[in-house]
Amino acid sequence: MAQQGNISIHAQNIMPIIKRWLYSDKDIFVREMVSNGCDAITKEKMLHPGEDEDYRVTVTLDKAAGEIRFADNGIGMTAEEVEKYINQVAFSGAEEFLKNYEGDNKGGIIGHFGLGFYSAFMVADKVTIHTLSGQDDALPVRWTSEDGMAFTMEDGDRTQRGTEITLHISDEEKDFLDAFRLRETLNRYCGFMATPVYFDVIKEETAKEGEEAAAQEPVLINATKALWLKAPKDCTDEEYKSFYKEVFHVYEDPLFYVHLNVDYPFNLKGILYFPRISQDFGSREGEIKLFSGQVFVANNIKEVIPEFLMLLKGVIDCPDLPLNVSRSFLQNDGYVKKLSAYITRKVADKLTGLFNTDRSNYQSYWDDIHPFVKYGCMRDGKFFDQVKDTLLYKTSAGEYLTLQEYLSKNEGRLGKKIIYTNDPTRQAAGVSMYVNEGVDVVTLDSLIDLNFLSFMEYSSGMEGLQFVRVDADSETFRKEMTEEEKKASEEKAETLSQLFRDATGNPALALRLEALKDESLSAMLVQDEQGRRFSEMGRIYGQDFKLPEQVTLVLNSENLVVRSLIASGDEEKRPLIAAQLYDLARMSTRPLEKDEITAFLARSGKLLEMLCK
Ligand code: ADP
Ligand code: MG
Repeated sequence: MAQQGNISIHAQNIMPIIKRWLYSDKDIFVREMVSNGCDAITKEKMLHPGEDEDYRVTVTLDKAAGEIRFADNGIGMTAEEVEKYINQVAFSGAEEFLKNYEGDNKGGIIGHFGLGFYSAFMVADKVTIHTLSGQDDALPVRWTSEDGMAFTMEDGDRTQRGTEITLHISDEEKDFLDAFRLRETLNRYCGFMATPVYFDVIKEETAKEGEEAAAQEPVLINATKALWLKAPKDCTDEEYKSFYKEVFHVYEDPLFYVHLNVDYPFNLKGILYFPRISQDFGSREGEIKLFSGQVFVANNIKEVIPEFLMLLKGVIDCPDLPLNVSRSFLQNDGYVKKLSAYITRKVADKLTGLFNTDRSNYQSYWDDIHPFVKYGCMRDGKFFDQVKDTLLYKTSAGEYLTLQEYLSKNEGRLGKKIIYTNDPTRQAAGVSMYVNEGVDVVTLDSLIDLNFLSFMEYSSGMEGLQFVRVDADSETFRKEMTEEEKKASEEKAETLSQLFRDATGNPALALRLEALKDESLSAMLVQDEQGRRFSEMGRIYGQDFKLPEQVTLVLNSENLVVRSLIASGDEEKRPLIAAQLYDLARMSTRPLEKDEITAFLARSGKLLEMLCK
């Protein structure tokens, strides 16, 4: 006789909320149904170990009937069990659900609430359970509900141990009956489950045309084994690489990887890959898949995985993670913090290990990994402490030096200065001036470097450490001058200033006259390091005011042209020469702009004419 009833007083509160809450993530019903089937099989295996049945979960798409069916040959349920586990949903999870729902109605929910089964009602207007328990004398049960609140339970006709759950998909959710979509969802959530999961599509047309159904084999969804569960010593390099390519759909090998494998004090398994990265930092995105006991939970959960590690690709499996709580809870959870710290430490260990034992390979990875490492340093003080001695600086000579190596190599010449370029092409003139002086110039040209070098100056713990761009001062190129010479220079500079201001049309131009070692150099522009960084920051963070260029023109009093300019009284030539010197100096720091070019070319022509007269 059919039994009718209402599931639980709580359920009436909970169903509308489930529907609303999980709205954006409805397809998790697939995960919940399949993982229940897997759980049932695991239980069956535990009850009857050693029995080698063809255990499997089969997901059948029957579009004509508007149904998705989830069948397993697991433990099944007796009528009492259906009563207990389905009808009287204990709802300890539900209470918690409600609590969190009230507390945090913005964030997403990333896990199950022990409400897994009821997720079916997000998409179905009728759910049927056919089940037969493996217990002696158990009778088959048929359970039906249309809204997850009222149900009917009666004797069933199932003859095989196990459970089949049929979801009749509601009209609004017909999209879920799309085979591609369902397959994609299955791949995503069930790709690594421990029990074989098959996907079977019943062809609509064959039924219509009355043809013999094309014998279409169900496809195995979880063909790839969860490599992260193997002991690292049993995994080959080849396995790691092909796993990477398969899971992340990439063709290129990863640079290297870290296999996480701990049982104590928490259970954490996973593999993190360092991908080969293109130069563009902004568009770079990693992908870290979070699993809970081989069941996919979500991508890039920043509460568990430190944000900077999101640039990597990988899988993390934390079976004990309290996923049945909201994200805001995870954020403050001590356990999660420990997990996250452990992951970071392992990544740092890998980097320092490579640096210490395999420096040349480490160097060859540096161009790819440096933005990630630097970002990590700025985000996480502990990580920085661990890896700071392995940070490398690439020199214009193609060497990779640590900070210490750089400083000791250029010892005595620069103090604690590091000369760098953030654009080796445009600043080529500046770079070669230093190189000619025997000073190494490092390239810091990625977007993150601007922040990174300021970070290093503050946080390296090295007093006086200073990053100086190749065009930030002329100190290295200066000859020693006596106080008298300096004074004389200053006086001459005064007169020259007026000439240059008039000639260049820049009334704010600052000018210094210095004796530079290289006589062939007429003039150079220097731009105060801090001021320049400040305006670069402003540009990056989208401030629309444009700071005036704070540049100083340094004229070389040792240079023939400058000398004759000082001595000359030719009022026609002097402004021309001054303007030309200014342009030449500018061109070694940046390309001239449109009207500047026009003026430069016209003036060059004029100067040539004068030479020919
Ligand atoms: P959870 O899986 O977290 O226990 P669910 O709501 O997903 O919560 O399922 C509730 C209970 O219903 C399960 O614990 C199990 O006892 C029972 N159940 C659900 N699906 C099956 C199935 N396919 N076979 C056997 N038992 C099932
Ligand atoms: Mg479940």
